[in-house]
Amino acid sequence: MQPFNYLIADTLDAALAEYAENRPVLKAGGIDLVDRMKERLATPAVVLSLGEVEVLRYIEPEGEGVRLGCLTTLADIGRSELLNSRYAALAESAGHAATPQVRERATLGGNLCQRPRCWYFRAIHFHCLKKGGATCFAVEGENQYHAVLGGGPCHIVHPSNCAPPLVAMEALFVVRRAGAEERVIPAREFFVLPSSALDRENVLAPGEILTEVRIPRAPDQSATIELREKQSFDWPLAMASVARVDGRRWNVCLGAVAPVPWVSEEAAEVLGSADITPELAARAGEAAAQAAQPMSDNGYKTQLIKVAVKRALLKAAGQEVPA
Ligand SMILES: Cc1cc2nc3c(=O)[nH]c(=O)nc-3n(C[C@H](O)[C@H](O)[C@H](O)COP(=O)(O)OP(=O)(O)OC[C@H]3O[C@@H](n4cnc5c(N)ncnc54)[C@H](O)[C@@H]3O)c2cc1C
Ligand code: SF4
Repeated sequence: MQPFNYLIADTLDAALAEYAENRPVLKAGGIDLVDRMKERLATPAVVLSLGEVEVLRYIEPEGEGVRLGCLTTLADIGRSELLNSRYAALAESAGHAATPQVRERATLGGNLCQRPRCWYFRAIHFHCLKKGGATCFAVEGENQYHAVLGGGPCHIVHPSNCAPPLVAMEALFVVRRAGAEERVIPAREFFVLPSSALDRENVLAPGEILTEVRIPRAPDQSATIELREKQSFDWPLAMASVARVDGRRWNVCLGAVAPVPWVSEEAAEVLGSADITPELAARAGEAAAQAAQPMSDNGYKTQLIKVAVKRALLKAAGQEVPA
């Protein structure tokens, strides 16, 4: 790892001022950042740790919804009684992400802003499109874990477990920058496709910190289903988060199959605001997979989308979920 200076912010204002003025690299739990530094993919001269800003670690009910600070850990989310009882889609996906040790350190903000896990991106000797090169190596290479929806010219999948449930539950992301009004961004508008920007995965501008996630209204029903190669710790191959908010129509958001948390309008169209039956859940799954365009080795993900959506809807509706 290349030597670097390490600053520890003890207030949010101090962090915002330092971040705006000197543009250090931000560290929350450090799980993703330190990994990239060890691989020399990130070589910052200065790292600014948010870790001491304890006021950014909270889960607080507000009105009909809830607010979560960006330093809330995945473990905090997974074991919160409030989130498990009223925001199951999020508690399930955060509570089962990665390993118990990772979840104790990994923060909500860091999970949403982590960089892609594409193995070519993570290997220093592959100078791919996303790193300023000329080629996406996944197109002709090993692409079994890559996108089947929304890909091109880069075919990453978004790595965050927390993003799909937050999009499905119509969360808002609060962003702060020194000397500016806070910016409130709907979760589904926070993430950007590679066709819009290759060098980043979200709309954060220089100097901006994601400080809070708000879910304005608890969903009537919600659930997440994650499908993995093995049931102990593993990254999802496909996931689906579903939520019915305010008696209105169902939202369906897919994870691990597209460069952004993927909102399936096709599935939502099939579902409307109807009560879930196994037949309807299966039709929604079929609809969600309709637009999939697999690469050479990831055609299996089309089937996984169907299964994940169907199971998530059955689970949200309190019905039996096939094993
Ligand atoms: C073995 C293993 C398995 C894993 N499996 C999963 C999994 O199944 N699902 C999953 O979702 N993740 C998984 N992960 C990834 C892990 O969850 C993330 O790396 C972690 O959540 C990142 O959070 P952090 O607080 O450590 O972020 P950091 O590493 O501190 O930061 C990550 C990035 O976000 C930026 N950042 C951090 N906080 C903010 C903020 N508030 N505002 C703006 N930018 C910010 C940083 O500058 C950095 O670029 C796994 C990781 C490991 C090591
Ligand atoms: S999918 Fe994206 S990150 Fe991976 S090799 Fe292609 S351009 Fe690079």
